[in-house]
Amino acid sequence: MPKNGSVLIIGAGIVGMKAGLMLAGASKKVHLVEKLPIIGGKVIKNEESFPNMECSTCMVAPVQQEVLQNPNIETYTYSDVESLSGSKGCYEVVIRRKARYISLVNCIGCGMCYDPCPVSIPNMWEENLMDMKAVYVPTAGSLPNVPVIDSSKCLHLNGTQECNLCVESCVFDAIDLNDSDEVVTVEVEAVLIASGSGLFDLSALPNLGYGDLSAVYSPLEFERLFASNGPTQGELTLRGSDISPERIAIIHCAGRSEVGYCSTVCCMYSFKFVRFLLHKLPEARIYDLYLDICVPGKSYQNFFTTLGEGSTTMLFTPSLEDVCVTESDSALRISYPDTSGESRELDVDMVILTAAIVPDSDLPELARIAGVELDKFGFIKRTDEGSGSTETTKAGIFAAGTVTGPGDIQRSVIQGESAAGQIMELMSTIDGEKV
Ligand SMILES: Cc1cc2nc3c(=O)[nH]c(=O)nc-3n(C[C@H](O)[C@H](O)[C@H](O)COP(=O)(O)OP(=O)(O)OC[C@H]3O[C@@H](n4cnc5c(N)ncnc54)[C@H](O)[C@@H]3O)c2cc1C
Ligand code: SF4
Ligand code: SF4
Repeated sequence: MPKNGSVLIIGAGIVGMKAGLMLAGASKKVHLVEKLPIIGGKVIKNEESFPNMECSTCMVAPVQQEVLQNPNIETYTYSDVESLSGSKGCYEVVIRRKARYISLVNCIGCGMCYDPCPVSIPNMWEENLMDMKAVYVPTAGSLPNVPVIDSSKCLHLNGTQECNLCVESCVFDAIDLNDSDEVVTVEVEAVLIASGSGLFDLSALPNLGYGDLSAVYSPLEFERLFASNGPTQGELTLRGSDISPERIAIIHCAGRSEVGYCSTVCCMYSFKFVRFLLHKLPEARIYDLYLDICVPGKSYQNFFTTLGEGSTTMLFTPSLEDVCVTESDSALRISYPDTSGESRELDVDMVILTAAIVPDSDLPELARIAGVELDKFGFIKRTDEGSGSTETTKAGIFAAGTVTGPGDIQRSVIQGESAAGQIMELMSTIDGEKV
């Protein structure tokens, strides 16, 4: 295959987008594949990001726009990499663009097709805190702002009923219920995997009540609850009610001993949540129940220190396994051993669990397709992690961001830019004979 200056990036989170822009800026052709109908990754779930408490959407939206408008970047949303074959400098990639049923060209994102749809389903992007229609955009402010139709839930597409209501409501003729998947084959010189991570399954810790007790929240649920473009428009009310909590406990390190590592960002986002709570519910009493605190470096230490005296009550427990959340008359009761091992009780209205960051559930399959190895924790293995290299165990395939392990935005983006640099270096040495 002749040199074609092309790169495949898998995952359009902050890492994939930033690395893509860097490569596109160096005149490389970037094929950016994202499994969701929108780009942006997890950062756009946050109202604000630590350590500077910047508005996350304001930070990411210009990057999303630049990616979508860059002539050197071909973005494949709602798409999967089906196969990846070849070797360093010469990979053939098969990408499946799933049928969206809505034209990315004709749709203007007016939203007129949503209301007429008779089907309501839980919105997973919004952490199931609200419903959406079978024709939907995952969240307000989605980019691209073009809906998709869930073919398994749509009455027309699953053959339940001859429904045509969304088509009739669209004056732009943007909906085609006969749309089908498109399979595209591209050739690239290098690959960057930037497909992010997942969260520890909190229901595996039954002592903490997640899944059974409605007032126990995962961190991403809390992010969406706080977000002004989220399910409650930022009203901090308890699930299924319009009551705001008055006593909130954040339990740190949920799943840490099970996964066997510190996830590095949980303490920081916990203290971000304290700031959020103080901002919206200034009268609330906040507790942080912890075994360990991780706020490394100058800015993180400062973020913690400047929370201020009395903002949260720090409660140490030597054993998270012995912490138990149950229902009490007043709301939730947390039993925990204190420093001396004595059993204590705390009554609160809301519990937020800071879940460990784990490999995405799709990662083993993606690693199989790409032919790269995983490390002992299930993240993508880098050959020389100590030196900061982003090379995987397969030559010409790189990995960056939380797909390689937990990290904050800054670490992830630096890794993505480093990968872009390594890819450019690799491409400059490929000359048809050497590969
Ligand atoms: C609750 C919480 C709060 C946080 N708050 C902050 C904060 O305030 N400040 C901060 O610095 N950091 C914060 N972080 C960390 C931050 O979210 C990460 O550093 C950042 O999201 C990493 O970006 P990424 O691009 O590596 O991954 P992601 O943001 O996860 O993006 C990965 C993208 O890849 C896509 N993808 C996945 N699999 C595939 C596939 N097989 N094919 C195609 N696409 C795929 C995903 O859909 C996604 O769009 C927080 C993390 C959590 C869990
Ligand atoms: S498909 Fe049509 S009605 Fe629906 S958002 Fe797009 S332009 Fe509007
Ligand atoms: S055709 Fe499907 S998506 Fe459109 S309105 Fe009917 S059920 Fe909803």
